[in-house]
Amino acid sequence: MPFLQLKAVDKYFGALRAIKGIDLSIEKGEFVVFVGPSGCGKSTLLRMIAGLTEIDSGSLQLDGRDITRLASSKRDLAMVFQSYALYPHMSVADNMSFALRLANVDKAVIREKVQRAAEILNLTPYLQRTPKELSGGQRQRVAIGRAIVRAPKVFLFDEPLSNLDAALRGQTRVEIAKLHRELGATTIYVTHDQVEAMTLADRVVVLRDGAIEQVGSPLELYDRPANQFVAQFIGTPQMNMVDTAQLPALRSAVGADHAPDGFIGVRPEYVLVRPAGSGRLAGQVELVESLGADTLIYANVNANGGPGVQLVARQNTRSSLHPGDAVGLDIAPASFHLFNRQGQAVARPQ
Ligand code: ATP
Repeated sequence: MPFLQLKAVDKYFGALRAIKGIDLSIEKGEFVVFVGPSGCGKSTLLRMIAGLTEIDSGSLQLDGRDITRLASSKRDLAMVFQSYALYPHMSVADNMSFALRLANVDKAVIREKVQRAAEILNLTPYLQRTPKELSGGQRQRVAIGRAIVRAPKVFLFDEPLSNLDAALRGQTRVEIAKLHRELGATTIYVTHDQVEAMTLADRVVVLRDGAIEQVGSPLELYDRPANQFVAQFIGTPQMNMVDTAQLPALRSAVGADHAPDGFIGVRPEYVLVRPAGSGRLAGQVELVESLGADTLIYANVNANGGPGVQLVARQNTRSSLHPGDAVGLDIAPASFHLFNRQGQAVARPQ
């Protein structure tokens, strides 16, 4: 039996069906990330698990117990918010121990748990400070520490890094991953950032319009997206997605002359830029983005009588190309994806 199980879970806000019959099983110790565009329902789903938003229908089980209607405080879960939600007048130590003091836990036990959490999170020198005397990253670590001392059955994170700058976000992400390795605690983490999802998750749940589009390990989603939405949501720059009617030559360029009508998807790293006059497709450079380790080359491919199709190539070598330069393009063998007109992935022809 799964550790946490959602069955046909629904949520309405007035007439809006924000969560549409979600089924999901999470194993003990798993790190699961809910990802999706703004408004897809990921925070609502997390809050329903936390008991902060009521479940309209369906059921929620945790560790063999039905908790669908149980009060949030009795669910044995700890949530870490984007806003930290720390008590400003309390010291770091008091913030971290608040829930345990409320539950009348023995003082020596509290001290030991707070010290241990502070060690794990590198907060020992700051235990007597108040939150306003800390940086954003340190405050977020206190919020995480407060969750750790409670030793909950499940950690719930709602966009915990969005208030941090890019460098600190990257650093804190690594710390959260390390923390999960050390504690092995079951974790559900909400983000709209697919890089965070890919780097932290054992399994990623991609949501759209209140429903699950696909669940899988980060590389399963990257290598075998179930539909166009997942294919283009995971990976930057996005997977190239070309209508076969718009660029019939792409069929033979990818080596699939008999590909059915629909869409061909190719990740940018599989689009290979060649000198003009070579390659199976001819195009013109529109933009070159030199990122240092990577170079992105946007090329317009001559389409049959149409305005052309833009393909982006990603390469790990520098480029001396400029906008307007003529280039050839090839697609690496067996690297393409096929989607039907409804956007669902279909098997490649053999
Ligand atoms: P974001 O990344 O922008 O936070 P999200 O994926 O977390 O988005 P939710 O906050 O879960 O999305 O919202 C899902 C949908 O439910 C949205 O259309 C939102 O407007 C709506 N919604 C959320 N909370 C409420 C509420 N309390 N009352 C009415 N509608 C709500």
